[in-house]
Amino acid sequence: MYKILGKTLAVAVLSTLASLLISFAFVPLMGGQVAGAGLVMTIACPIVISIPASLVHFYLGEKLRSTNTALAAARDELAAAYTRLQHQARRDALTGLLNRATFMTELETRSQAGMHGGLLFLDLDHFKSINDRFGHATGDAALERVGALLSELAREDDIVGRLGGEEFAIFLNAASPARMLDHSQTVREAVEAIDLFSSSGQRIPLGISIGAFHCAPRFNPAEALAASDRNLYRAKSSGRNMVVA
Ligand code: GH3
Ligand code: MG
Ligand code: MG
Repeated sequence: MYKILGKTLAVAVLSTLASLLISFAFVPLMGGQVAGAGLVMTIACPIVISIPASLVHFYLGEKLRSTNTALAAARDELAAAYTRLQHQARRDALTGLLNRATFMTELETRSQAGMHGGLLFLDLDHFKSINDRFGHATGDAALERVGALLSELAREDDIVGRLGGEEFAIFLNAASPARMLDHSQTVREAVEAIDLFSSSGQRIPLGISIGAFHCAPRFNPAEALAASDRNLYRAKSSGRNMVVA
């Protein structure tokens, strides 16, 4: 407000000075004299006109500036929210891994790029009984630990997703069949080595069954996933906590 008043006062002073300058320059040329009522009007007119006009002008200008600032802040907030939403739409909330839809999209992209690699379908063993014996929160903790582990073991170009429930999938980008088997065993052993404890301090052993399938260039993602799922089924029916390729 003080800023507006200050600027208004400055305009009034300048207008008055300009008015005096013009009057004293031109009135004598026209044979007149700047004095008396004429001088009063020379001073009063610019003050009476400029003060309300400047007040309105500077007030509206200030209002426009603060509206623009608020708009810019709202736009930044919206952009941040959009980025957050985009991230959330791609990821599983519990583990932070890619969700099923995004995993399949990424897999399709690799296939179209002519990439080959190892596709693993992973399923925790007897997971329902962990929930039943130790509670859902402990089950969630197990899923988080496994998710973090799969991310840690993956390379930057690999794709790691949670397909749903206690089922995960990994695409080992450009991996040979040997590396695919090697990675599968590493994951299985690392899951087995997770130290998960119940609220009463009891260690909860975890096991994971893995079905692996090596994808040739231009593989069909859905068929490849079905093939690795078939191998997972074999791992389950052969006793669990093992890798079948
Ligand atoms: P199997 O060895 O044959 O795979 O048996 P399983 O018990 O692991 O498989 P099943 O399909 O019978 O049970 C999966 C369980 O996973 C059932 C469901 O309650 C649990 N589950 C699914 N999603 C979540 C989750 O987000 N959190 C928790 N805590 N449990 C989940
Ligand atoms: Mg399952
Ligand atoms: Mg299971």
